[in-house]
Amino acid sequence: MRIALYTVRVTPTAPAPSIVERLSAPHRGPVPFSVEFMPPRDAEGEARLWRAVRIFERLSPAFVSMTYGAGGSTRDRTVRITGELAAQTTLLPVAHLTAVNHSIAELRALVGAYADQGITNILALRGDPPGDPLGEWIAHPEGVEYAEELVRLIGTLGDFHIGVASFPEGHHRAPDLEHDTRNLVNKLRAGAEYSITQMFFDVEDYLRLRDRVQAADPEQGAKPIIPGIMPVTSLASIKRMAELSGSVIPPNVVERFTKAAGDGPEEDRATVRAVGIDFATETAERLIAEGAPCLHFCSLNFAKATSEVLGRLGVDVDAALHVPA
Ligand SMILES: Cc1cc2nc3c(=O)[nH]c(=O)nc-3n(C[C@H](O)[C@H](O)[C@H](O)COP(=O)(O)OP(=O)(O)OC[C@H]3O[C@@H](n4cnc5c(N)ncnc54)[C@H](O)[C@@H]3O)c2cc1C
Repeated sequence: MRIALYTVRVTPTAPAPSIVERLSAPHRGPVPFSVEFMPPRDAEGEARLWRAVRIFERLSPAFVSMTYGAGGSTRDRTVRITGELAAQTTLLPVAHLTAVNHSIAELRALVGAYADQGITNILALRGDPPGDPLGEWIAHPEGVEYAEELVRLIGTLGDFHIGVASFPEGHHRAPDLEHDTRNLVNKLRAGAEYSITQMFFDVEDYLRLRDRVQAADPEQGAKPIIPGIMPVTSLASIKRMAELSGSVIPPNVVERFTKAAGDGPEEDRATVRAVGIDFATETAERLIAEGAPCLHFCSLNFAKATSEVLGRLGVDVDAALHVPA
């Protein structure tokens, strides 16, 4: 990636609202929602992403976020498309940024490149080792070791609004939940304004995380913890995703989806999808009842499943879904 090296503090040209501001603005439906996109692999994937973007635009999410790939051209696409989301849509983008294989100079340059495009909301992450997310983490020799340092670095570069990751089941590398909670509190104390959680299958895990942070530090515990939800549309993909993130699918949930998948040589996708929409809706309803500040949908660049869940929650999605081809 060819990027200019910024060595001075940068001033975003047109400051965008912060995520916390957006969460308290008027919204459709019972609670604000947001959408996570990922950088597409090819032109076909990019066309699909833009179809989803245009549908979501009509549903007015509080913000959208774009994940940061493991390397090379995917990273270039993340930066380019996040810029296009800021310039060519009415959406408020959050740029994910990871420390993987980046020196501090490169991280500064990337933050500067976002600022140049008016992007001031950044999700600061450590990232996982490329290739094997559960493998040994090796920091760049001139980079940062933990996300907390990235939060501090971005904070020195300008008027950015920073979010971080949180883990209802605890991060898979944390020795215990106490350590995991301390890390989240430290990231918030370092300047993060909110966190977005890893997707989870048991709402109790989210509620206990919220309790732990509030007990550890009431001031930081008042910051929004935005739950991540993924409407499951395939049993195989959800198993793979759990494997990659080190999260655990509770036995009753495995049983529900396995039953839906059936005994045939191929899983019954239609039934799994229907159960996935039911499960995501039930999860969302419980989260709303428990006062979650926003629902963050991992869309995999598709709009339909998330829109169906939103429709079931009372958002008027019909007009948005009928976009002319
Ligand atoms: C909402 C969300 C979005 C994500 N987006 C992306 C993305 O776009 N691209 C991507 O590659 N990955 C993404 N990830 C995955 C994330 O990068 C990984 O889960 C990663 O393993 C942890 O990142 P972190 O920012 O939480 O790291 P950290 O907060 O740095 O924590 C990493 C580990 O180090 C431990 N730790 C932290 N500080 C210390 C310390 N001082 N001493 C000892 N141990 C410590 C923590 O307990 C934890 O186990 C995302 C995750 C979430 C939840």
